[in-house]
This record gives sequence, structure tokens and C-alpha cells, in this order.
Amino acid sequence: MTFSLHGQAVSGGIAIGRAHLVSHAILEVAQYQLRERDVAGELVRFDKAVTTARAELDALRSEASVPGAPAELSAFVDLHAMILADPALTDGVRDLIRERRCNAAWAMVQQMQQVVDQFDEFEDAYLRERKQDIVQVAERVLRVLQGKPRKLAKRKTTTDDDLIVVANDLSPADTIQFKSLKIGGFVTDLGGTTSHTAIVARSLAIPAVVGMLHARPLIQDEDLLIVDGTRGVLIVDPDSGVLAEYRLRKTELELDRSKLKRLVTGRSRTLDGEDVELHANIELPEDAERATEVGADGVGLFRTEFLFMNRDELPDEDEQFEAYRSVVKTLGDKLVTIRTLDIGAEKEARALRNRAGNRSAPNPALGLRAIRFCLVEPQLFLVQLRAILRASHYGRVRLLIPMLAHAHEIEQTLALIELARMQLRESRQKFSAVEVGGMIEIPAAALSLGPFLRRLDFLSIGTNDLIQYTLAIDRTDGSVAHLYDPLHPAVLKLIGQTIQSAQRAGMPVAVCGEMAGDPKLTKLLLGMGLRQFSMHPTQLLEVKQQVMMADAAQLAVRVARILKLDESEKISEQVDKL
Ligand code: PEP
Ligand code: MG
Repeated sequence: MTFSLHGQAVSGGIAIGRAHLVSHAILEVAQYQLRERDVAGELVRFDKAVTTARAELDALRSEASVPGAPAELSAFVDLHAMILADPALTDGVRDLIRERRCNAAWAMVQQMQQVVDQFDEFEDAYLRERKQDIVQVAERVLRVLQGKPRKLAKRKTTTDDDLIVVANDLSPADTIQFKSLKIGGFVTDLGGTTSHTAIVARSLAIPAVVGMLHARPLIQDEDLLIVDGTRGVLIVDPDSGVLAEYRLRKTELELDRSKLKRLVTGRSRTLDGEDVELHANIELPEDAERATEVGADGVGLFRTEFLFMNRDELPDEDEQFEAYRSVVKTLGDKLVTIRTLDIGAEKEARALRNRAGNRSAPNPALGLRAIRFCLVEPQLFLVQLRAILRASHYGRVRLLIPMLAHAHEIEQTLALIELARMQLRESRQKFSAVEVGGMIEIPAAALSLGPFLRRLDFLSIGTNDLIQYTLAIDRTDGSVAHLYDPLHPAVLKLIGQTIQSAQRAGMPVAVCGEMAGDPKLTKLLLGMGLRQFSMHPTQLLEVKQQVMMADAAQLAVRVARILKLDESEKISEQVDKL
């Protein structure tokens, strides 16, 4: 049956493909005790459910062997079949039914939990992560037990079908792994529009919708899905008419994207001759290629914390140095702005879990994240600083410090950078002069720029956090996502004041939050005086197109009028007309 669900559109485009359920949650399962005489029947019901689940996996395997089907599909089917055949899972369930007279579904959940707990003890990270597969296998059996059998191989996987991840929630650490998998798109029930999960989706250029609320329980593995990442819509089991329409729309979008490629070599200059720098945001060293492909003027934000995720050991100085150097080399003579570790809040790193600074805090977004964490872990910070400084020898590197608010944080950071330089001199390591900049992403910083202007070399406005902290909206919380408003007059005032103060002081200022990559906001930011934007490579050419169609002098006058308005609805109307 066709139905559609709506959520927050976080990454544009259209994906058409099969659902791949990813679960962190145990399904809601009723618990009851069987009468003695029902035990034998429950055992038979359980065995039948296992047989049906096995048949489902067999059917999936034959779909996965169709030429062009994603290789990941076949690997995950094999693994799931192996888990289902393992008596460690199923024998335990039978024992629970027999000995404790548990209903089969509840026994399945109990046994699954026990096996998953054992996996938590494993040294090997890969094996530990396989617990997710155990949960999925258990859920497959549970669905059958609960009378929701999956439709068997209704449609064959075709070569252009994407794999679409459906999850209750995905962490940035989960999503970054999609870079090495062929994932066509994803939908999640939780999440906000500027969560790092959403940001990674945009960086991957895969359609994504978050905050769907009920997608995960309503969708079954292998359902045919259409993700419209531009409108925030998910269509489940579309009929042939809708499918054909979306396939056409998908082709049109791909065509539009390829037309934009003509702008790669063009100069990023307004109609009245103002040059505008367009830089790239990257998460992993391999993203640097994308930055050069779209002709970025440099890397305006390298979110280095992603190097620290999904691993048990911290990257040491040499590993970090190689990662930074590879980006610097890819960028050649262009500027590479490397942001120091912005870990904490929703960006978690297993390897830092036991550190003082990364324990779960009552309000993680207001806790010991980013530079606050680095300043209480100076040894760890120094490793990163030395690695970045060493990479500066191979190109043009700038250091960017996240989440600064206090003058003493700036002083302490600069002192540690000086110490890192001294240590490198002592060990005769080469490094070049490196400018140090600060992110303006806490309202207090924007309202009190003096120490930033006196002590630093450049500023970069992080609108994602600036909005979060100005409006008291957790950027990862879908339930308040409707209040997350880049056009709130208070937000625009902080951005506008920061740009003006920096320019008056002759200090370079950029915006590297998601606002910089939204082509609907390009003219507003130009009118506010911004001349340096940093965004995901996928957004750069659309923003460039806007720059090339803009008259900066005229925009300055019109935007000054807009900034006098004190209601975002009115501001939004006027911004649309720019
Ligand atoms: C920001 O806050 O706007 C920013 C660029 O940093 P991040 O999104 O990584 O917090
Ligand atoms: Mg930030």
C-alpha cells in the first residue's frame, strides 16, 4: 500500500531504492507468561518464525545477486543468515520459552540483549559493531512472530535502485561511514536540520529527510522507497505512475547539476565587480578532491573531529600529520583552514569516552565541547597542534579554533600553540607561519569581539551553533526544529555586527555554517557585506551562480532596510525578493 511521510528536508535530491532498516532500538514487544499447556505451541510458532525469516533472507539473497545490486546488500544478507543459523541466539530463546514460560517475542528480545551484551565485551571493534546485525536479525524474527511478515521479493532489485537507510536516529559517527558505502539516501525519525548527521548528508550529496517521527516502525526491510530530500517527503511503496514521475524528476535534477559544472572555471564575482571567495567545508581528507573539482578557493573549514570517530585508539601525531598534509597537498597553493578538535555534544568519539571531558553531560551542547575540552586535555590538544603545524610546511595552512567565548580561552589557546611551536623547534621539525582564527558561534563572542579582533588573525562565523545558542534550540532535536530560524532578527543582528566590526578592524571574516551554503541566503549575506563563504563542495556552484547574478552595491542598500525589520516572517518575505 502506498503512503507518504513528511519530515525535515536536510539534503536535497531524489533517491529511489530499497529500505535497509538500521536499528538502535529494541522493538516494543509485549511480555506475558504462557500457560503450561501453551508452551509446546509457542515453541512451534517460534521455529516457524525462524523458518520464515530464513526464507526471507534466501529471497533477499537472490535479489542481491542481480547484476548491479549493491555489494553491501549481499554481504549483509550472508551475515544475517549466519546469525540466524547460530544456536547461540535461537537455542537460548527456546530455553526461555520452555523454562520460564516466556512468550516467544519477549524471549527473543531477552536472548538478543544477552548476546548483544557479550558483543560489547569484544576487543575487536568490528566484531563489537556487529551487534547491530544481531538486533536486525532478532527484529526480523519478531516481525514474523507479531504477524507482520515481510513481503517476499515483490520487485527485483534493478541496477539503478539505491540502498536507502531507515533508522530511528543516526549519529554523525554512523553517517560518516556512509562515505565508504554505496548509500543512496537515508531517513531518520529523530534529528534536526543542522545536526552533524544532516551536515554529513549534505557533504555526501545524498538525499536525506530527518525528523520523520514514525518511519522506522512503519517501514519494512526491502520496501521500495522514494526519498525526496528537497521537499522532505518519503513515499513508501509508490505506484508505477509516481515512480515514473520521480525517476524523471531525478534525471532532471542530475541534468541541472551537470549544467552547473560550467561554472567551475568562472570567476566568482558579482555583476558590479566584487570578488567573492568561495571555500569548501570538508570532514575527511578524501573530501579535499571534491573541493578542487568544484574550483573552491580553498578549504574554509576542515572538521577534524571526524578523524577521531569510529575507532578505539586516538590518531597519533604522525597519523594526523599525514591526514592534514594530504589535504594541504591536494589543495596545492590554496588556503586550508584546519579547525581544531570540536568533539562533544552529539559528536562523540569512542576513543575519548573515558576522558574527563567527554563523559555524558547533563546538557552536552552546553558542556565541555570543542576548545573547552581541548584546554582541559592540553596533551591531546598539543598532539593535534603539532600535527597541524607540521602540515603547514607543505602549503598554506590556517588554524581555526571552535567555541571560543572568553578572552582567557583565546590567551590559553595561543599559549599552547606557542608551546607546540617550541616543541617542534626542539625536535627540529619544519613548520611555516600559520594564522590563527576564531569561530564566532557563541552569542557572547559576537557581542564582545574586542579580544578576538586584538589577538586573532581572522574570524569565521559558525551560524549553526550561533543560531542554536541564540535561540536556545538544540540543533539535534527535531521537536524544536521549527523554531530553528536563521532569519530571526537577533541572529541576523549578531552576524551583521560581526561582519561590520571585523571589516572595520581590517580583519578577514567568513561564514562557514550552513547559511553560507544556502543559495537562497547568498544575496542576503552579500548585502550584509560578506565576501568569504565556506560550504560543502556540493553547494558551491549554486552559490556561485547566485554571486554572479548579484549586484553587491544595490544589495547593501536593500539588505540594510531588511535588517531594520524585527519579525522573521517579514524578513523572509523580503529576502525571497532579493
Ligand atoms: C557552526 O557551528 O556553524 C559550524 C560551522 O561548526 P559545526 O557545524 O561543526 O558545529
Ligand atoms: Mg559549531
